[in-house]
Amino acid sequence: MDLRIFNSLSKKKEKFIPIEKGKVKLYTCGPTVYDFVHIGNLRTFISGDIIKRVLKFNGYKVNHVMNITDVGHLTSDADEGEDKLVLAAKKSNKSVWDIAKFYTSAFKENLRSLHIQPSDKLPRATDHIKEQIAMIRKLESNGFAYISGGNVYFDTSQLKKYGKLGGIVEVGETRIDEDKNKRNSHDFVLWFTKSKFQDQDMKWDSPWGKGYPGWHIECSAMATKYLGDHFDIHMGGEDLAYIHHNNEIAQSESSIGSEPWVNYWLHSAFLVNNDKTKMSKSKGNITTLINLEENGYSPMDYRYLTLGTHYRKQLIFSRDGLDSAKNARAKLNQFVLKIKSKPIKIVEGEAYLTQFSAAINDDFNTAKSLSILSKLMKDSRLINGEKYSLILKFDEIFGLGLDDLGENIPTNIIKLAEEREKLRAIKKYDASDKVRDKIEKHGYTLLDEIDGYRIIKSSNSN
Ligand SMILES: [Zn+2]
Repeated sequence: MDLRIFNSLSKKKEKFIPIEKGKVKLYTCGPTVYDFVHIGNLRTFISGDIIKRVLKFNGYKVNHVMNITDVGHLTSDADEGEDKLVLAAKKSNKSVWDIAKFYTSAFKENLRSLHIQPSDKLPRATDHIKEQIAMIRKLESNGFAYISGGNVYFDTSQLKKYGKLGGIVEVGETRIDEDKNKRNSHDFVLWFTKSKFQDQDMKWDSPWGKGYPGWHIECSAMATKYLGDHFDIHMGGEDLAYIHHNNEIAQSESSIGSEPWVNYWLHSAFLVNNDKTKMSKSKGNITTLINLEENGYSPMDYRYLTLGTHYRKQLIFSRDGLDSAKNARAKLNQFVLKIKSKPIKIVEGEAYLTQFSAAINDDFNTAKSLSILSKLMKDSRLINGEKYSLILKFDEIFGLGLDDLGENIPTNIIKLAEEREKLRAIKKYDASDKVRDKIEKHGYTLLDEIDGYRIIKSSNSN
């Protein structure tokens, strides 16, 4: 079955064709680690996880790289404003390095609790200054960089076309103060030696003087280092498309000297608050995963909520929405526990698998795949073993941990149960009853069902 994905480059759904058969190279823009990420950021990372799981579901071997932005960062997208890491460090009386380390661990913990599969590599920008400098030197020698006011800039006028992803905002349309050192309005800083900020802690030696890299260069340098000069998919939040990603494309293709750098660009839409405002730290209207847990929600409730909205559609976050996700997930868990049995081959339910694959392969339509799940749950013609097997298969994408519900039955008990099944199959009922007694003595009860058996902890055992 073809996998079709919406490519931000062409603005349409395209059939996915990997560069190398059976393999996908995927890059995701990671977090800036000066604070806890909020659930809006986490929605983007869940979307990335779904994309990766769908690729794997289709049999691709995925090589996934995500960066950690731990270099001092700016409060505005246009290389203006204040350094977020310095601000956070000032507030807490810690060094910028401590801040970055602390929030990197917190981010990894968020990924774990949301069942977001870890990337194959999670490189830190500060560990790749050498690579960033090398790329800027390449841009200089290729005629795409100039020095002005002590900083190195990318010269967009040297490009055939700037802004391959579109959305270019012309000067005068924004309130951003224009940087007087720029030759062209869309030029951006590759290397700063003249810090606009006081107390800049992170500085490195470079051919242009002691300083630090511009925001965009780290992703280009690290993606190219780990995935090469041409790779399949680059993914990020929709807020990154028009400045960060257009700049990434400009500097990568100009330093590499060929195009395209990336075949498919994917962007996940924002999560907005109930009043339609974007969740953002600067607005002070953010919710973190910890906030949700403090209010009695599991990270899985949040994951379930995000599955209900297509990743390219705005997700409106409300307490009511989260409550219904929580209830729906509780019902799903109860259902799965009720029908839990030995996974079997899917025969009668094949059509569900086809429908499910069609939904997720149609630009990762998780909302539709959830509706297929609820149809399956209500289908009385299908035996529990098949339902259970199908649900586990679906959960390879949903990632709700449905294979791990309920008490953990020790392997020796499962082995005994299997042995009893075999004895029953050859009609050795006396022997099979003895095995059942053995299981009982261990404190477990075997329940025979139409399509197999179920093991539960005996009620009189502890
Ligand atoms: Zn990036």
